[in-house]
Amino acid sequence: MSDQYVKVQVEQMKSFGEDAEKEGVDTEEQVPGSSPSASVSPDHPTSTDASSTSLPCKQTGKSRSKPGREDKRHTSDVASQGSVVSSEKNLNRLGYERTLQVKGTGKILQRKSEPNGNYVTIHTSKNIEEMRREEGFKLAKKRRPVTVDTSKAKTSLEALKISIKQLKWKEFPLGRRTACDIYWHGVSFHDNENIVSGQVNKFPGMIEMLRKINLSRAVRTMQELFPEEYDFYPRSWILPEEYQQFTTQIHMVKEKDATVNPTFIVKPDGGSQGDGIYLIRDPSDLKLMTGSQAKQGVVQEYIQKPLLIDKLKFDIRLYVLIKSLEPLEIYIAKEGLTRFCTELYQEPSQKNLSHVFMHLTNYSLNVHSGNFVHSDSQSTGSKRTLSSVLYRLAAKGVDIKRVWSDIIALVIKTVIAVVPELRVYYQADIPPGKPGPTCFQILGFDILLMKNLKPVLLEVNSNPSMRIEHEQEVAPGVFEYVPSPVDEEVKVGVIRDTLRLMDPGHKKPTPLDWLSAEKCNHHQDETGTLPSLCLKQVYPKYSKQFNYLRLVERIAALFIRFLGVKGNMRLGPTAFRTFIRTCKLSGSNFTMASVDILYIDITRRWSGATPDSREAGMGLQAFVEAFFYLAARRFKSLALREQVVSLLELCESQLGPQSGVEERRSLSCSRALPRTVKTQAPCLANPQLSSPAPLRRAASQDYRHQRFKPRSLRANVEN
Ligand code: ADP
Repeated sequence: MSDQYVKVQVEQMKSFGEDAEKEGVDTEEQVPGSSPSASVSPDHPTSTDASSTSLPCKQTGKSRSKPGREDKRHTSDVASQGSVVSSEKNLNRLGYERTLQVKGTGKILQRKSEPNGNYVTIHTSKNIEEMRREEGFKLAKKRRPVTVDTSKAKTSLEALKISIKQLKWKEFPLGRRTACDIYWHGVSFHDNENIVSGQVNKFPGMIEMLRKINLSRAVRTMQELFPEEYDFYPRSWILPEEYQQFTTQIHMVKEKDATVNPTFIVKPDGGSQGDGIYLIRDPSDLKLMTGSQAKQGVVQEYIQKPLLIDKLKFDIRLYVLIKSLEPLEIYIAKEGLTRFCTELYQEPSQKNLSHVFMHLTNYSLNVHSGNFVHSDSQSTGSKRTLSSVLYRLAAKGVDIKRVWSDIIALVIKTVIAVVPELRVYYQADIPPGKPGPTCFQILGFDILLMKNLKPVLLEVNSNPSMRIEHEQEVAPGVFEYVPSPVDEEVKVGVIRDTLRLMDPGHKKPTPLDWLSAEKCNHHQDETGTLPSLCLKQVYPKYSKQFNYLRLVERIAALFIRFLGVKGNMRLGPTAFRTFIRTCKLSGSNFTMASVDILYIDITRRWSGATPDSREAGMGLQAFVEAFFYLAARRFKSLALREQVVSLLELCESQLGPQSGVEERRSLSCSRALPRTVKTQAPCLANPQLSSPAPLRRAASQDYRHQRFKPRSLRANVEN
């Protein structure tokens, strides 16, 4: 870790928690918990009148959408655009009447032209709800039902069954010999092997990418390039390899300012549900083991001043759908959950550090506290809907539109941080051109609001619990699963609407979908009409604001281009040379011998601690480090981000659109070296070119980076 990096961290540590002026997403969306009257914009201050605020995700029975652009737009879509077929009749001199038949509905809209040329609707023979129903019935008659394999759904099964029933789709609880349209997996992409078509609700590599160490690394890379944009993730150190940096930095901070007394939270890498988590105030309190016992995890700055409600700490569980990786499509559920602690919050002190019910918001922990409140109401108890909490904050005058747009920005940026590596996993498991399924995935974002309302990312769960029952002590010591209305309300909506978006025969919502009353609840009305989608697209909708962040993805695209053999995840030395040559990065002062040394040096450090690694070679994170080094070498006078952009442009300009094919062909026999060969590689240590300096990446050994084979994949606990 460079001194500069330490300095930046020390400064940041001091400033963390202060208001950060951030760009917000310019959302026109309805904010969960707001209503037209409560929607906040500089021109329309937050309504503090709770009585006038209606909740978007509750069954209000009426349209609660903003009387804004969206509704108007969609109304006019139906009335005047290409989805209507016109048949003119009764042409006369003063004007004429035109009868419009909405395609496929039998719906008649009659319009009359006025002398000024405008059309006025003069009669509607059926109301919109009727139109929708007819439309739905006709479509259902025409199409065979979508088939869903639920045999591996595990604890999502209950919510999934309800969703499938509502959609009138067909469930295959024991699987099916022929292919299904959708496969719902409880754990990972590999729950069912050999799927060659349809869609799977998990991406390969997602579990690995979202483990605490890998997520921290991915966000850190982005923090190096975009420190301000990625200040929503607490400073983290990877254990055990960064233990020294951690202790040094903390001592420096304390020496510089004796009044600073930070607290840290230690989390095991593969942990979930609060397992193995503890707080410390001094690095010497870290329970580090050595050798093979060494515990891998992260130690993270603890947010000491969270926003409290009823004097309790709480966090937000937000459901996010990655609908597709290429092109990137992200949806956010307008309704989420909030999980409350069960002991009144106090800032950490030596005395209360071990009070888990005060500091950890995990449901799985707090449910065992005597103070846990199970409530059928969505706005009380230890688990509440997000909208009920935002509603309450809005009533207190909080600018919830701002909070919501900051949350959307946090989600988009986090996804942008993990997408590069996901792409590498994706092409390895589902090589382009070969039959395979496409993927989508619901993620669970855990977000803490600081006292100053700034959202902080705690973690992202690849398998958020979709259980709609909760454990309850029905008699002393006797626990049973009982229905949880709050969970059902939120989770059925998320699963059902995910399925709707993934419906193979229904790529885009029809204009008629937009006309229904906006309800985010999971209940169908008595006519069987589905509520409108409670998943809102945020990307590519806001792509203009975030596209500039997608630099590492461009590096990953280069990496994938030179991988050569399909199914591979690591770059061999020949492929790395080819990359350097093709992009014309070598020269008299950077010979191919130096290139080899660079390759060996970086690769060794990143994979040195993976004794059981089946694939040797350079992984994406090591390649990114090499790329940063090459960029710094070539464009010395620029700042890191500009260096990287310049090198990317240079490389991309050298690679014509067609050149990739040839490279792949020429690389087809340059697999990454088998481990044994790699260790015999020459020129291991050259004093002329030791580690790239300055090495911006604090992490030097990516022993978590190996690709987990399906069989060795530990079943992740849902959380
Ligand atoms: P797990 O996967 O075990 O649930 P988390 O990272 O979600 O691990 O942490 C568990 C809980 O600890 C969170 O729900 C939150 O209440 C608390 N927590 C985690 N990280 C922080 C932090 N940096 N600052 C304050 N509280 C935190």
